[in-house]
Amino acid sequence: MNRKKIIYALLLLLPMLLPLFVDNQYYVHGILCRILIYSILVASLDLVVGYLGDISIGHAGLFAIGAYSVAILTANPKMNMEATMTFMPQIPFLAALAIGVLLAALTGFVLGFPSLRSSGPYLAVTTIACGMIIFTFISEQELLTNGTKGINLSVVTLLGVQLGGNKLVWLVYPPLLAVMWIMRNIGRSYWGRAFEAIKYSPIAAEACGIWRTYFKISAFVISAAIAGLAGGLFAQLDQYIAASTFNLDFSILALIALIFGGLRSTLGNVIGMSLVVLLPDWFTWFKDFRLLVFGILLLLTLFFLPQGVVGLLKSVWQKLGFHKHDHVDIQERTLNLEKLSEKDSSVLFAANTKVQKLDALELDLVRMQFGGLVAVNNLSLKIKSGMIMGLMGPNGSGKSTTVNIITGLYPQTSGSVRVFGQEMNALKPFERARLGVARTFQNLQLFHDMTVLDNVMVGLHMSFKANLVEVMLGLPAVWHEEHEMQVKAYRLLKFVGLEKSAFEKAKNLAYGQARRLEIARALALNPSFLLLDEPAAGLTSGEIEEFNHMIRKVKQQGISVLLIEHHMDMLMEVSEEITVLDFGKKISEGTPDQVQNDPKVISAYLGTSDVAVKPSGSGGVLA
Ligand code: ADP
Ligand code: MG
Repeated sequence: MNRKKIIYALLLLLPMLLPLFVDNQYYVHGILCRILIYSILVASLDLVVGYLGDISIGHAGLFAIGAYSVAILTANPKMNMEATMTFMPQIPFLAALAIGVLLAALTGFVLGFPSLRSSGPYLAVTTIACGMIIFTFISEQELLTNGTKGINLSVVTLLGVQLGGNKLVWLVYPPLLAVMWIMRNIGRSYWGRAFEAIKYSPIAAEACGIWRTYFKISAFVISAAIAGLAGGLFAQLDQYIAASTFNLDFSILALIALIFGGLRSTLGNVIGMSLVVLLPDWFTWFKDFRLLVFGILLLLTLFFLPQGVVGLLKSVWQKLGFHKHDHVDIQERTLNLEKLSEKDSSVLFAANTKVQKLDALELDLVRMQFGGLVAVNNLSLKIKSGMIMGLMGPNGSGKSTTVNIITGLYPQTSGSVRVFGQEMNALKPFERARLGVARTFQNLQLFHDMTVLDNVMVGLHMSFKANLVEVMLGLPAVWHEEHEMQVKAYRLLKFVGLEKSAFEKAKNLAYGQARRLEIARALALNPSFLLLDEPAAGLTSGEIEEFNHMIRKVKQQGISVLLIEHHMDMLMEVSEEITVLDFGKKISEGTPDQVQNDPKVISAYLGTSDVAVKPSGSGGVLA
């Protein structure tokens, strides 16, 4: 295993030998170095497009910022005699590169904000605009950038070595390796999962305690910094840059390379870019048609290889027997987790003892209006610590809205919400999650393209201690923590009876399993207060039995629960108190017996039907 790693590492270093043995500059300097530099740009794009799911068509602008920083700050006045530019401080290359990276990161920071408000085509247009602003700026500001005439640079000398010609590999390959390493580490960490969780369901991500703003902006900043790095290195490729390189086409080319190679794969980034650079070169004999041929080839690839070239390679690799089959791998990992989880007997989840003396929830005259519709009408409600409170009412009576108000998804029109004595008004959903409020969603909000285990790992988000730098470097402590959390997630899956599906994609789960996964993910937050919005909808009677058992175990740990249910019998069995809503108003509350016999509930809510009041095994009477 370790020997394999050493061999891989040595293989990775082979390109560093090229300048020593190859004299021809066309392939090494002209093509390979171009691929290496552009691949860094593709990797940066992958962070935003592959992980966050936001399309950016403005990365050429960020790339240009890096390139122009290096060019302007290092340009030699003797080589730019006729230039209109006057500012040429001639600082060392590495310092200029660092400034370029910083400036690009700063732009990424600004570019990140629109991504909080818009997505899809709207965001794509915003990024185009950003790219165009930068492009126009560098074309027009001749005093600073020499405009369309461009800037000439001298070859960089580092540690006494002139890095011109094929030796440019020594300058551009190590940064690519570093970027690949960082991207791999981020992708496998809780940072990568947070990005993906935001992509699949921003509200569920926030409900897991993920600060969406912070993670999205961070992704844009890291991505922009890497794009700036690529640009800074690019300035050395031809020792000449001009504005025309950094147009919209260039952004699109990077995007094509990314999708071509396969998302969220550093190897894919390099392969994609290699093809994009090499194909036109190979098809030169098509002369004027080469772009057409290239385009058609690209379309066919995209159509037949949705996972990109890397997806194809992976399956060929497996068929040839070089790579373990997925199921063998999964079996091994399951066995490992089973062994480890048996050893671990720590408490999986329990209410925070500090808050246990306080009421879990106090709603005071809470009102929610959607236009003219009053969804929740001056509702007051108290849940004592450690209690299971049932909430029932017909469809549209305001139950889910109540949960959304408590968890911060909807700002109430008026009234106050207190959780464990703390006023919640000013707190965002993720902040409430951090205070120990966890929830499930009536309309499931799983991260559907992630594995079942990873879904629970997102729930464990707040338990991770490693900081971003440690994560990027992939320090041993980070992997240790990751493994520890995997075991915890696996134990949570065991608790809800889903451990056999740990490595399946969440989207492949049956309905009842998906509901249980949401509960495991909510419990992963180690909550003190759990809100379950119709957790048993669609479950079979056997599954409901198990569910009741589970809820009791949760209660034993001192966790307070607000349980919304259509299933009357289930509510009656597990809740200590029940509140009944109708048209957003509380019409009854008390013990299950009291509520069941309340004439108001029977007439206003259950109608006059006799069967309605009797618990039925087969499901809801209120649907
Ligand atoms: P329940 O969960 O009890 O079935 P809800 O709380 O989902 O009911 O809905 C209560 C009422 O509020 C319904 O009439 C619903 O249409 C309305 N409602 C809920 N959410 C929204 C929203 N985001 N915008 C407008 N109306 C909403
Ligand atoms: Mg509802």
